[in-house]
Amino acid sequence: MVTHDLIRGLKKIKKNEPFQRFTNSYLKLFGSINLKSLIFYMSLFNSIITSILPIMPKWFAKPFAKPYVAGKTEDDAVTHIRTLNEKGFSATVDILGEHVLTKEEARDITAQYCHLYDRINTESLNCNLSIKPTHVGLNISLAEAMANFTNLTKKAQEHGNFLRIDMENSPFTNQTFEIYQHCKTIYNNVGVVIQSYLHRSLNDINHLANGQFNSRICKGIYRESESIAYQGREEIKENYLNLSKAMAVQKAYSGFATHDQDLIDQLLHWIESENISKDLFEFQVLYGVPMEGRLEALLEAGYKVRVYVPYGPDWFDYSVRRLKENPKIISYVLKNFFRKR
Ligand SMILES: Cc1cc2nc3c(=O)[nH]c(=O)nc-3n(C[C@H](O)[C@H](O)[C@H](O)COP(=O)(O)OP(=O)(O)OC[C@H]3O[C@@H](n4cnc5c(N)ncnc54)[C@H](O)[C@@H]3O)c2cc1C
Repeated sequence: MVTHDLIRGLKKIKKNEPFQRFTNSYLKLFGSINLKSLIFYMSLFNSIITSILPIMPKWFAKPFAKPYVAGKTEDDAVTHIRTLNEKGFSATVDILGEHVLTKEEARDITAQYCHLYDRINTESLNCNLSIKPTHVGLNISLAEAMANFTNLTKKAQEHGNFLRIDMENSPFTNQTFEIYQHCKTIYNNVGVVIQSYLHRSLNDINHLANGQFNSRICKGIYRESESIAYQGREEIKENYLNLSKAMAVQKAYSGFATHDQDLIDQLLHWIESENISKDLFEFQVLYGVPMEGRLEALLEAGYKVRVYVPYGPDWFDYSVRRLKENPKIISYVLKNFFRKR
């Protein structure tokens, strides 16, 4: 089945010739082997691609990044957001990048985000911002990030918009919650992210959540050690559901961020059987991840769906870092690439 999809998908590639040449060799190599070996070779392939990607030309990385990035410029992002809004989706926008090393860069990114708030307001877009703390200075110092988030919070307040503080890897978790709590003293419409792979997350919800708490719930994208994080898919999922329930008990607002169809089924089963108010949650997905009609079905059933839209000139470094952090994304991309869009 997978081999069949691969072959069908490869035949459809018409545009990117260098990539087509590359994938044709891939097809020749893998076309004749059975499914078990294919899985083994796919994971080997993931590791090889991840290691060579940084030294490969950009045309090679582009197919891996393109479906998931809404262009290089603010104008590109705005065009995509408007289209999403017209289809009934809300959006949250992210300028690609993280771990900036100079104050000038952190402040420049902050200014770009402030401009985005102005633009969202002027163009009446249904869109808020999702910002990584290290993108606006947390890797430089907590004080730098605090100062920039203070400006961002005031800008969100000026336009009555919302600010989501993304969650990065565990060395930044405590400081991110500190920033969140600081921003909340300025303006209420600020939210954070809880990762279900972290052992600490239920405690964090119990500590932070109340009727004013707004958190995205996600599994977590970074590699974390087993001393602090669940490693098994099922336990991460089980914790996801427990955290979602804990949020509802506190009457806190959840953004259920996942593409996992089975998890969405389980969430819907719980939501419907417990009659959880639609005012207490929304579903969230990353731009470009194929969901096979699920998002439209959710909208039709009256649920809110927000799409996370990343854009920016930094797409290459971002994609390489993402792929290094989670080589499985190579398989996602290839699988999705080969799937009928
Ligand atoms: C809106 C949103 C915001 C997020 N914000 C954060 C954050 O702030 N901090 C953080 O640590 N993590 C964040 N994540 C990532 C999240 O933690 C997971 O790592 C990611 O969503 C994969 O988990 P999953 O629940 O989708 O399930 P999985 O079982 O991993 O994926 C289910 C299926 O979805 C597809 N898929 C999943 N992820 C991708 C992808 N990146 N590209 C292509 N296809 C994919 C694959 O086909 C896969 O089979 C966010 C995710 C979303 C949707």
